[in-house]
Amino acid sequence: ETRLRFPPSPTGYLHIGGARTALYNWLYAKKTGGKLILRIEDTDAERSTEESIRGIIEGLEWLGITYDEGPYFQTDFTADHVAAAGKLLQAGHAYRCFCTKEELDAKREKALAAKQALGYDRTCRDLTPEQVAEKQAAGLPSVIRFKVPDRQGLLGYDDKVLGRIECDYREVDDFVILRSNGKPLYLLSNVVDDIRDRITHIIRGQDHMTNTIRQVLLYEALDAPLPVFAHIPLTLDTKKAKISKRSHGEIVAVHFYRDHGFIPWAFNNFLVLLGWSPGDDREIFSREELIQAFTLERINKSSAVFNFRRDDPKFFTDPKAIAINEHYLRTMPIAELAPMVRKELEAEGLWDDAWAGDRQAWFFHTIDLIRDRFHTLKDFTSLGRAYFADDFTVEDKPLQKNVLKFPDLTTWLPALADRYAQAVIFDAVETERIAREMAEELEIKPGVLINAMRTVVTGQLAGPSMFEILPVIGRDRVVRRMREISR
Ligand code: GLU
Repeated sequence: ETRLRFPPSPTGYLHIGGARTALYNWLYAKKTGGKLILRIEDTDAERSTEESIRGIIEGLEWLGITYDEGPYFQTDFTADHVAAAGKLLQAGHAYRCFCTKEELDAKREKALAAKQALGYDRTCRDLTPEQVAEKQAAGLPSVIRFKVPDRQGLLGYDDKVLGRIECDYREVDDFVILRSNGKPLYLLSNVVDDIRDRITHIIRGQDHMTNTIRQVLLYEALDAPLPVFAHIPLTLDTKKAKISKRSHGEIVAVHFYRDHGFIPWAFNNFLVLLGWSPGDDREIFSREELIQAFTLERINKSSAVFNFRRDDPKFFTDPKAIAINEHYLRTMPIAELAPMVRKELEAEGLWDDAWAGDRQAWFFHTIDLIRDRFHTLKDFTSLGRAYFADDFTVEDKPLQKNVLKFPDLTTWLPALADRYAQAVIFDAVETERIAREMAEELEIKPGVLINAMRTVVTGQLAGPSMFEILPVIGRDRVVRRMREISR
């Protein structure tokens, strides 16, 4: 059985990079019929927050990334981490180091000045048991360092994405695994948890590769089989800078997309393409198709670009994210889209229960009619507001321009409204016939009436066919809005 994990540190919100990592792990777990474990790595007490934990869990929920175990909390397993450090010490894979911070700083400065390697100089590595006992008896504090084997040759592992990764044993420093205050360090805790959770595959960012090479040594020393590693490329902006909250703001946060009316699966579909491609030109994948198509081998080696153009407000995020969202919004089954539209309407206080009852057919038809020009779910309550409420705003300027050109519109529209009020049937065919008949009588182009009508009835300059719209908005509202032009 494959077992994967997503182990975020809860020191901020769930961002694009983290979400993409979670998605890749989830996809691979699904593909292989395995399990995904959520582990909150909350050992940094100062930077971990409850709010961040909640944000991560809610973000995953919104994305639909489900996990089979967890959330586990790393701080619940501190005893395991400390025990592992003790075991490594016992077995001679680690040693106590009594060097003080001042001594280490001084050594570093000296090495820096002499342009020598900055790593720990192994002063305490060969202390005899008697020397250690003496220092401990004297009450000197100590950390525990991992003893990197003194071997010739190369240390390495096979990365599923990058191939063989190797480095010289001598390049790896004797790293600290337990602080003098008894607190374990990330490198150790992370491995101990992955061993306990029987993790078989680790998919994480390339920024962890320096950790991986040292963790490979820990697996060996702890007598545990090495999991499969797959390091995924970083996500950069168009200027090749790592995307971050500091330089990009909320735009890199998953909640930004939820709050801006993205469809969760559409956003996953966007995320997966940041660093993976199917090998053909497909870009749209259903959940099942993506699980089928996803392989670790097809993860890109080089960094992904988050194409966000700060200088162009039309592109409030990567245009590809918007394009994929549009695709889903405009093509997904109405029955799946309707609950999302409902949520938007509810949030704006516009929802009417009848739309889930005897007016459901009307609701579905309306969504289908108007979604063609929409980009996000937010458009249903902004651009599409006139279909659901009377408090929409009218794109005033075109109306004024129209009226300036044809001042008589202020009497024509109310007059047409009167004919509509009296019409026996109020459907697309009849409303069109009546409007054209009136245009003919007035000796004007029907477009003059239709354009003005569109603006006062829907608030918009463009949209679906006018006469399909009228019966959807309903006779009472149409008549009222057309009469109000003369206010
Ligand atoms: N807590 C680490 C992080 O969020 C986990 C990295 C990992 O091992 O995948 O970066």
